[in-house]
Amino acid sequence: MTERYAEIIVGLNQPKVDRIFSYRIPEDLVQVLKQGMVVEVPFGSGNRKTRGFVVGFTENCGTDPDKMKEIRKVLMDEPAFTERQLAVARWMQSWYDAPLGACLSLWVPRQVTRKPRKKNQDPVETPDLSPKLRLNEEQEKAARPVDDMLDLHLHRTFLLHGITGSGKTELYLQWIEHALALGRQAIVLVPEISLTPQLIDIFTQRFGHRVGVTHSRLTDAERAKLWRAARSSAIDVVIGPRSALFTPFPDPGLIILDEEHETTYKSEQSPRYHAAEVAEKMGQLWRIPVVLGSATPRVESFYKAEQGTYAYLHLTKRAVPGALLPETRIIDMREEMAAGNLSIFCTELKQAIHTRLARKEQTILFLNRKGYSTFVNCRSCGFVLKCPRCNLPYTWHKDRNLLICHHCGKEVRPVDTCPSCGSPYIKHFGTGTQRVEEEIRHMFPEAKVLRLDTSVIRGEETYRDVYEQFRDQEADILIGTQIVAKGFDFPGVTLVGVLSADMILYSEDYHSTERTFQLLTQVAGRAGRSEVRGEVLIQTYAPEHYAIQDAARHDYESFYKSECTARHLIGAPPFTHILQFLLTGENEERLIHLTDEFHALLVAYGAKRGFLIFDSAPASLERVNNVFRRRILVKLEDRERLMAFGTYCRDKFLERHPRARIQLDIDPMNLI
Ligand code: ADP
Ligand code: ZN
Ligand code: ZN
Repeated sequence: MTERYAEIIVGLNQPKVDRIFSYRIPEDLVQVLKQGMVVEVPFGSGNRKTRGFVVGFTENCGTDPDKMKEIRKVLMDEPAFTERQLAVARWMQSWYDAPLGACLSLWVPRQVTRKPRKKNQDPVETPDLSPKLRLNEEQEKAARPVDDMLDLHLHRTFLLHGITGSGKTELYLQWIEHALALGRQAIVLVPEISLTPQLIDIFTQRFGHRVGVTHSRLTDAERAKLWRAARSSAIDVVIGPRSALFTPFPDPGLIILDEEHETTYKSEQSPRYHAAEVAEKMGQLWRIPVVLGSATPRVESFYKAEQGTYAYLHLTKRAVPGALLPETRIIDMREEMAAGNLSIFCTELKQAIHTRLARKEQTILFLNRKGYSTFVNCRSCGFVLKCPRCNLPYTWHKDRNLLICHHCGKEVRPVDTCPSCGSPYIKHFGTGTQRVEEEIRHMFPEAKVLRLDTSVIRGEETYRDVYEQFRDQEADILIGTQIVAKGFDFPGVTLVGVLSADMILYSEDYHSTERTFQLLTQVAGRAGRSEVRGEVLIQTYAPEHYAIQDAARHDYESFYKSECTARHLIGAPPFTHILQFLLTGENEERLIHLTDEFHALLVAYGAKRGFLIFDSAPASLERVNNVFRRRILVKLEDRERLMAFGTYCRDKFLERHPRARIQLDIDPMNLI
């Protein structure tokens, strides 16, 4: 009998090892070893022990059989991934140019192949389950096409476009119920699990213990437990961030992405995948529907719906009868300034807050973290205090009297005199949430004020605390950043003030207009979920911009049209694809040199073939922790050709400079 060898993919996230290795199978494993098993193998010259995935068997070892290494042991007695899961990983490998081992690792988290200590089962109460609602006519109409796909066991990707409060969540719940009735399981992705306690409550109230929740702070044991529970379908609904896509359900029936426009759906580490694309691929393989839900879909998604790639479902009315969209007004801050008002609040907003306090209604004040700065600069010479490691301005934290680099976390004490010119007029500038809070307390000493931003949040509990206090009307005013744009749907809130809408003015990324529109629409959705019609005031220095105008009018289609025109002009997605190369290195001069050489190579291979190749430039984060970063962007309409070109040139370049560090990111959500 000829000897059989195992074909192994090592679970290392390194491009260089992205191929199949053959290993000898020890005697005692010959009968045991199956495709899909996870094993421990010696790897590399040092025979370091490494996790490996068995993807097949061969009789041809390719090298001298005597030199072959042998599998050390099996880490789990049964296969850890299926043929179909392997197919998803293989697809991701080529679609995102990522090592297969890294893609497979998504299906088999490290924790499940370790032996976690067994913990005693926590006793859990059975919640009272809440009944489903009767769908309104619009919901009914939107529900049917997805129900049909569930019944037919066929794939289709749906874009569920529904204004805030139109009852998208209720639709998710009923589709899931349908999938469960068919004996299948459901995956629900949310942008950020810690910011969606109310959504989790709604799901557990409907499905009880059949729901599992994943998030980044699970312990190893909890993660392993959830993984096993899903495999055995002890749970059959999972809610979690994008990684929850890789929940090993035996027979998934439905995948939902809530708030599909959120940037957290794109992974910023290899594999740099977008959850919507992977969900669609999985939908095709499992022959099941995929639903992307949002009040403000990505331009790319709406475009696909327009082209017929996605099926379009539209909810135009709020589900609760009588709940009106808020009245939204734009305030031109330049006029306020001209009229002598130098405060960060326009006169109208002050008045409106005053009225709410008198009526015992609640106010949310929204501050765009990116739009407002809290940097420290010198009024004499303009010098800005920056982190020496990242070359980014420090943020001043008044409560701890520290300057903190929000990128690498470096902390330093503030200075009294300018390090550059010695002037004493060094000023802690800008308007963080803290300063807004101070001004509010000063103007309205009787008001109870809460603040919520990332510096306040030290975990889910703080968020929940603030959330519950505000919900229970223990405070009059909530001041917050992006965090309050979601979830704070309380009937007591009748006023939302946006302190600065001008994110567009602060970013070079072509997404920033869209982000501004999405954020404003979302924030505006917080007001008036009750009988009292809400009011939204938007302060801006760019009142004529369509992103602000259309958000104020709640007019997605109009925004979409203007944005498409703009993107067409600059050749941005959805009319093209963008491949972003990031080159990094400790020595700036050498990095510039290498990047230029790589650029020349791209031009040599691509310029005459229709590829649009931009000059190399410092990344917007030029330096992180003393590592310099430069980027090159390449555009082309054909995604597959673009990717093939990118990997080809990268490989050519690495032959010449094996130690160069280059990352590829296709259609990045953030230009770096
Ligand atoms: P969305 O997810 O679109 O923002 P939600 O699903 O949160 O909207 O619905 C908003 C509110 O409308 C919720 O309080 C929900 O309970 C209610 N609702 C949804 N569908 C119905 C319905 N068919 N009948 C009555 N109320 C509904
Ligand atoms: Zn100075
Ligand atoms: Zn830093």
